[in-house]
Amino acid sequence: MSEQLSFVSPTANSPWGTYLSQVDRVVPYLGPLARWVETLKRPKRALIVDVPIEMDDGTIAHFEGYRVQHNMSRGPGKGGIRFHPDVTLEEVMALSAWMTIKTAAVNLPYGGAKGGIRVDPKKLSPQELEKVTRRYTSEIGIIIGPHTDIPAPDVNTNAQIMAWMMDTYSMNVGGTATGVVTGKPLHLGGSLGRVKATGRGVFVTGREAARRLGMDLRGARIAVQGFGNVGSVAAELFAEAGAKIVAVQDHTGTIVNSNGLDLAKLVPISRTDGVVGFKAGGDIVPNEDFWNTPCDILIPAALEGQLTAERAQKTTAKLVLEGANGPTVPQADDILAERGVLVVPDVICNAGGVTVSYFEWVQDFSSFFWDEDEINVRLDRIMMNALNHIWDTADKHKITLRTATYAVACERILMARQERGLYP
Ligand code: NAD
Repeated sequence: MSEQLSFVSPTANSPWGTYLSQVDRVVPYLGPLARWVETLKRPKRALIVDVPIEMDDGTIAHFEGYRVQHNMSRGPGKGGIRFHPDVTLEEVMALSAWMTIKTAAVNLPYGGAKGGIRVDPKKLSPQELEKVTRRYTSEIGIIIGPHTDIPAPDVNTNAQIMAWMMDTYSMNVGGTATGVVTGKPLHLGGSLGRVKATGRGVFVTGREAARRLGMDLRGARIAVQGFGNVGSVAAELFAEAGAKIVAVQDHTGTIVNSNGLDLAKLVPISRTDGVVGFKAGGDIVPNEDFWNTPCDILIPAALEGQLTAERAQKTTAKLVLEGANGPTVPQADDILAERGVLVVPDVICNAGGVTVSYFEWVQDFSSFFWDEDEINVRLDRIMMNALNHIWDTADKHKITLRTATYAVACERILMARQERGLYP
């Protein structure tokens, strides 16, 4: 962590700096609410905790953990927990701020938060991982809770880790508080539909964007980068709608087939051997060729910063659906806009996951659980309402969908701030 780090001075090229510049872009559309905009440029609260555990070999290890509550004007904090050796307070600040924008963009009654531990979970035994999770939960327990801040899984955390978090928090408060985290196992208050929710949201927003562009999904050619939870589910739903998945890339390589890859075979093979394990179903090509494979829709669903300026020049896609968080660098965004390529931004495109997390939290409070059809119908409705409102805003101001999403979200957050007023 930089010694100079402060809320207002980002380090060069940092995600927090990117976030601050995204907020600056929407100030002209905020009208009188612009006087409150500084609220968005500072996290409400940032907690750094020491996480000491006794390792299996008897030594004592210390890990640094964070929980940042960026904004809670519209409701409790909401956002995942990342276990990664490179995670920093500044990165968590940016991720928490993007959660504030995302929950407001889809109009969920939440603010934004995020957490992380500087740890490589692959180097821990299952017992050590459980100890790290429980001690971290206990340390941040002073600021999380079902009505204050609700964590969820993120990179390298999963339903088992959420179960340990729920149990630790519950032991400390003396009850069973299922609503303190989402993304839990089904029999511990988890929700049906949560695993596929983000990919489904990418499909729902993509289907509507294609309709508005006059693009028929039947026969549309789609290239998908990242074939995990988000990318593979989105690909399956588009294929069911008649599209052809012509290129898929994951960490093992890139496979292409201009007639469309057979997903029923590719998906199970990719889980064990990666997409290159399906040699029989397509051609393995160099990774950089993924970006100039002829396609109509491009879905970056792997990592941040993948769609660079050079790749934005190459792509033949007319529509980009951001399944990943932050996959498009700012220069590429400008190039795509100039080239007339429509980008559905991450803060709306991949909001299906947090939306079904919201359903999980609501179901936990009522202790009444919905079937999967009901969840999917409600998810569809929330995503469509959000996208339509953002689209109208983009048309009205002649701005990109990304700037429109920020304008809609920032207006909702700052209106709540203004109505609540400042205490004291
Ligand atoms: P995942 O771990 O299930 O899958 C990631 C995929 O990316 C894998 O197929 C992996 O092989 C591939 N990948 C990794 N490195 C790569 C590289 N260098 N080049 C090409 N492919 C590479 O993760 P996920 O849950 O699908 O998340 C993907 C993205 O979506 C992340 O940015 C995540 O933050 C974002 N996201 C996920 C959710 C969710 O609910 N899972 C919600 C919102 C946003």
